Amino acid sequence: PYEGPSMAEILQKRKEFLNPCMFYFYRKPLNIVEGKMQYLFDENGCRYLDAFGGIATVNCGHCHPEIVEAIVKQARLLQHSTIVYLHHAITEFSEALASKLPGDLKVVFFTNSGTEANELAMMIARLYTGHHDIISVRNSYHGNASATMGATAQSTWKFGTIQSGIHHAMNPDQYRGVFGSDGEKYAKDVQDLIDFGTCGRVAGFISEAIQGVGGMVESAPGYLPSVYSSIRKAGGICIADEVQAGFARTGSHFWSFEDHGVVPDIVTMAKGIGNGIPLGAVVTTAEIAQVLNQRCYFNTFGGNPMCTAGGLAVLRVLEKEKLQENAFVVGSYLKDRLKALQEKHEIIGDVRGRGLMLGVDLVTDRQLKTPAKSETLHLMDKMKDMGVLIGKGGFHANVFRITPPLCFTKVDSDLSLYSFQALDRVTAEAWSERIRLSSALSIISMLRNLWKHLRNVPTQKRFGNVCNQKFSSLSRDDNL
Ligand code: PMP
Repeated sequence: PYEGPSMAEILQKRKEFLNPCMFYFYRKPLNIVEGKMQYLFDENGCRYLDAFGGIATVNCGHCHPEIVEAIVKQARLLQHSTIVYLHHAITEFSEALASKLPGDLKVVFFTNSGTEANELAMMIARLYTGHHDIISVRNSYHGNASATMGATAQSTWKFGTIQSGIHHAMNPDQYRGVFGSDGEKYAKDVQDLIDFGTCGRVAGFISEAIQGVGGMVESAPGYLPSVYSSIRKAGGICIADEVQAGFARTGSHFWSFEDHGVVPDIVTMAKGIGNGIPLGAVVTTAEIAQVLNQRCYFNTFGGNPMCTAGGLAVLRVLEKEKLQENAFVVGSYLKDRLKALQEKHEIIGDVRGRGLMLGVDLVTDRQLKTPAKSETLHLMDKMKDMGVLIGKGGFHANVFRITPPLCFTKVDSDLSLYSFQALDRVTAEAWSERIRLSSALSIISMLRNLWKHLRNVPTQKRFGNVCNQKFSSLSRDDNL
């Protein structure tokens, strides 16, 4: 049994000593103390089915025994940095990883995270091409350091710091985008950015074939081949961000870009690569990799022996347990059943994604595609009460993100779907909450008018700070 501090104590310490921008999905945050494959346990021993998989991180399942064993075994023997000495775990994993990539993508640089991987990839693109401009896609997430925050294209995740040489292209979003599923039309926007926003030469293009944080938005068919061709003609190179969608998650292929028939010049990865341990990587061609020989590049802990021993075990488990096949079979089953649910519930505007990377877009009006923000939150809480944990995302925070460990079964899918039955009640409950909220707002507005009348000062001036609160404290229903 759990004998650690209570949830109240943890919350208090978080408030006092940790990043003030911490956010929680649930009204009452969860204190998760243990994980086993597709299950998580809270401090009271309550079991939850994890349909979010640590944000698409634990592809092989929580605390998979074979992976834990490999990490512990290496930690007992030796754990050190990646520089100065040789170590077989690092070379063995790089060889195994390179064998999973197509074409000439054979040289690996290890990092500790997805952000570091994308920062490095963008720097390599700039150095290799000798150009500065990079094009990324609106609604994408690529990290939170300098260059990657620039490439990220959602205001929630951006601070107003310098964003040098980044252009954001129209999102080839098949559900909300103006051109529907016509990838070629969206691709024209990239050519326009090259023609009108740069000197005509660019360093590169970075994108997720399925946007994770952005709400499981898969690029329209035909988009990537056309964009890759424009970028290469403009002297640039193409980066595929596989941080969320990689490592067998999409089922049909090991990497999500493969579904679009392209071969990138650089592939970046993290999350699923280590099944929960801090590990990331950039894989590119020998020719492009040479560019870092100009100076000396290293990363003290990126790809250290303990993490690479874990990474190698991840590849072994994915293969041995046929998790890619499982992602395909179970993911297709779940998607079909979600589509059937869509027929029954008006609130489900779209069901999309591949394998076990699925999105359910909730709307209050199917015609207008109005994001059902409060309903999404409400339903998430209800599902948690029924023992199912699910993610949310999308710019309007109205998309369920379903990214469970790839050992998820059809029975697990049925249980998740069963918890969706809360949909029957959620609309009514969300409306009553809205009514409560609108009564509260009417009272506030009345008091505001009274105040305005008494003081005779412009409303905007007096209430400016209140309106700006969003920027000082994000709330549960922001797109987090
Ligand atoms: N790229 C994508 C597609 C991501 O989803 C994320 C994380 N959500 C990152 C990059 C950044 O990874 P990390 O948080 O490990 O820095």
